[in-house]
Amino acid sequence: MRLELCGVTAGYGTSMVVRDVDLTVPGGQVVALLGPNGAGKTTLLNVVSGLLSPRSGRVLLDDVDRTKDGVDARAAAGLCHITESDSIYPGLTVGDNLRMFRTPKLAAESVERAVSAFPRLGQRLGQAAGSLSGGEQRMLSLARAYVQQPSLVLVDEISLGLAPMIVTEIFGYLRTLVREGSGLLLVEQYVTRALDMADLVYVLARGQVVFAGEPSELGSSDLIARYLGEEMTAPASKRSRSSRRSPAPRAG
Ligand code: ATP
Repeated sequence: MRLELCGVTAGYGTSMVVRDVDLTVPGGQVVALLGPNGAGKTTLLNVVSGLLSPRSGRVLLDDVDRTKDGVDARAAAGLCHITESDSIYPGLTVGDNLRMFRTPKLAAESVERAVSAFPRLGQRLGQAAGSLSGGEQRMLSLARAYVQQPSLVLVDEISLGLAPMIVTEIFGYLRTLVREGSGLLLVEQYVTRALDMADLVYVLARGQVVFAGEPSELGSSDLIARYLGEEMTAPASKRSRSSRRSPAPRAG
């Protein structure tokens, strides 16, 4: 599914957080949306999924104007939004999280598919999702997306607060989603990891797009140092341990 944002301006109350944003995710491709804390990345994902209505501009999915559609209609069209916090139901078991909103036939298939792709969850099907480790909860979010076979997945900081080894595993699962045909719009604090898997990258700063292009073009600009952390200016071989931006406290 191709996503196109045309001139999107959005915010909260009278304060506009993103302004006049044009952004495209071609079908089946991975697009990284990077930028400093507070740049408006989460706000933009919320506009794409329908959680937030833009003040102006349009959201197109496969050339259909979805700007006025709600979250459910966009989800039915194949969009899946994995938010920072609430993409699982903690009081339900892992199995029920996977079976949710599926017909009885699809429910059994969903669990089977999820267990084969995410074996670690297979051992925990009867366990309350809220009792999983942080990393396992993120895996469950991804597994829930995976079983729905979405055309486009919006992923908001899925690695936040996780140990590097688990992050590697999570990125492996993101690649699984892409192999199965999903496109990704990826907001991610691990800049190097995001750039490694991205076909295209956008940098958002103070609510506006300051770069759109291929990851290799970004590497040769000074934008990484300016907006994404100075450590990224080091040669690739030296930056593997230090590509994580320090998360700043969220305002608001
Ligand atoms: P981070 O990398 O820190 O998650 P971000 O780029 O995702 O940041 P947003 O979360 O979109 O940025 O926030 C952009 C701005 O919008 C911030 O100044 C934030 O305080 C403000 N904001 C976010 N959500 C709301 C809200 N519900 N009501 C009012 N202001 C908000």
